[in-house]
Amino acid sequence: MLVIRINLVLTSDQNLESSIYLCFMQFSSSLLENAVNEFAKLPGVGKKTALRLVLHLLKQDTKDVGQFSEIIARMRSEIKFCQRCHNVADGDICSICSNSMRKQEVICVVENIRDVIAIESTQQFNGTYHVLGGVISPLDGIGPDQLTIESLIHRIEKEKTEELIFALNPNIQGDTTIYYIQKKLQPTNIRITTIARGIAFGGELEYADEMTLARSLQNRLPVESYVSNK
Ligand SMILES: [Zn+2]
Repeated sequence: MLVIRINLVLTSDQNLESSIYLCFMQFSSSLLENAVNEFAKLPGVGKKTALRLVLHLLKQDTKDVGQFSEIIARMRSEIKFCQRCHNVADGDICSICSNSMRKQEVICVVENIRDVIAIESTQQFNGTYHVLGGVISPLDGIGPDQLTIESLIHRIEKEKTEELIFALNPNIQGDTTIYYIQKKLQPTNIRITTIARGIAFGGELEYADEMTLARSLQNRLPVESYVSNK
């Protein structure tokens, strides 16, 4: 009976395997144990992985580990958020906003900093960003006031913005946020677009949900532009 219960628990939660493993693990050093516990607080890091990382650091040169911890501490204490777009920055204004080679009159609205990094990695966008810090989600208690929407509206009113591109996740919260901002911007004649949504490259039509397929048909492209974009 006991064996069956343990098997069920292990298959339903991968992290539990490491917790059970560590229950029987005796740390001979509280310094080591504390370090493992700190690493295990990171998202996606179980105690087993934490132990592996800590043991790896233990093998490194003291100077290198000192530099490692100093970089992390400085990152946390010195990093700033751009006053214009709310992206991470080393100063008051980020390197994208202060780059005169970029189209400052085009703003791509994203949910978080990870999205900025993802779009920058494509090397296909030469405008600026606006990081909302989330999306409107009443069920999670997130309303417009908790996001940087007012700052975006103020920015558009102040600057000569020509186009606003929404690059939010295709879900109800993303669509609600787009709707809300678009309503706020109705008095202006700024061009408002969203990134294309449709079948993922390498995906199969028969597995796409109806909404995705319907949007792909609505937003169909002339074949010449599809071929030239490939
Ligand atoms: Zn910026």
